[in-house]
Amino acid sequence: MDSLFDLTGRTAIVTGANTGLGQAIAVALARAGAAVAGVGRSSMDETGALVEAQGAPFLAIAADLGTIEPVARIVDEALAWRGRLDILVNNAGIIRRADALDFTEADWDAVMDVNLKSAFFLSQAAARHMIPAGGGRIVNIASLLSFQGGIRIPSYTASKSGLAGLTRLLACEWAAKGVNVNAIAPGYFVTNNTEALRNDPARSEQILARIPAGRWGRPDDLGGAAVFLCSDAAAYVHGAVIPVDGGWLAR
Ligand code: NAP
Repeated sequence: MDSLFDLTGRTAIVTGANTGLGQAIAVALARAGAAVAGVGRSSMDETGALVEAQGAPFLAIAADLGTIEPVARIVDEALAWRGRLDILVNNAGIIRRADALDFTEADWDAVMDVNLKSAFFLSQAAARHMIPAGGGRIVNIASLLSFQGGIRIPSYTASKSGLAGLTRLLACEWAAKGVNVNAIAPGYFVTNNTEALRNDPARSEQILARIPAGRWGRPDDLGGAAVFLCSDAAAYVHGAVIPVDGGWLAR
């Protein structure tokens, strides 16, 4: 059974790997045997140490995904490092909060550029290599806002709903070419992304009361789903958006 989930010898790119869910995914992939290239605009030192503690190689790739300018270089640096690219996890993401009546164009564009545009063009750059090389895995980090509306986060909901649609489109185009494209929809996790919610006692209590598991997610709750989707165990899984949400959507 173990070999079904073994990622030994594979190379993964994880965006936004310096902290939160991206860091936990990087460590989980490393624990399963993958070499990990962490992409982001902040120091990757902590993640590098955690990945290397799993006995896996780590490379930091400095890039700001607020534009698509770095996407080709990111893939080139990973290929120059290990000579292969098997996995891309589009995890980097931002959120901006304001009532829809007051929401600005700047907050719309900033969120859409990181969460959706860069995820698409980095997927394109990765698949241009993966397809001729025989295949690969792409995992997009979606959200409950891929299924629900939410409040005060219009560009976030649009971007994550768009990312779920994009996951399905890319799966339809690339499944027969050997690239599995899927997504994970995390529920409410304790990271920087949810700091404002957790600091609001009323919202925080409402959210907790709806989670069947009775607790917020911890970043390492997400690693298993990521390893699964990147492994041979998920060879016939295409275009899925898998909730890891403590049961939130089941409620
Ligand atoms: P986080 O701690 O805020 O992490 C976001 C990551 O994205 C950080 O590594 C951040 O880097 C990176 N990032 C943001 N803008 C970037 C840019 N322009 N260029 C490169 N990297 C950039 O939050 P998180 O919860 O771990 O979020 C990870 C993903 O999970 C996001 O896509 C988020 O939408 C999604 N998600 C989170 C939750 C949750 O409950 N936490 C739920 C559903 C979905 P810096 O540290 O440099 O900003």
